Amino acid sequence: MHELSIASRVVELAAEHCRAAAADRVAAVTLRIGRLACVHEDALRFSFDLVREGTPLASAILRVIEVPVTVWCPACGTEQTLPGIQHFACPACGTLTGDIRAGKELDLDSIELETEETAAS
Ligand SMILES: [Zn+2]
Repeated sequence: MHELSIASRVVELAAEHCRAAAADRVAAVTLRIGRLACVHEDALRFSFDLVREGTPLASAILRVIEVPVTVWCPACGTEQTLPGIQHFACPACGTLTGDIRAGKELDLDSIELETEETAAS
């Protein structure tokens, strides 16, 4: 299961970051996932819940930013955002294009850490 390895890597990276910063726990992690990254958010959340047990991410919030697919349209000379992933054609003029500029992302956007001091205040 593809999502399980992604979740493990996210938890690993965030936990490492937490240790390096001498923080107590991870409050939240934000991922940027392109619509073409073939990641199922439900499966990812399920996997995340499995792998984070006993880590500094045990109570962390998982946020997912979905990145739409953007293609370059040679006819319009601009980047266009596709409304779906069924047709790789410019939504403005209908020109077919496979020149994908965004939508394959699978990035760890941010990690929010928490220490006892900030939690108490
Ligand atoms: Zn166009």
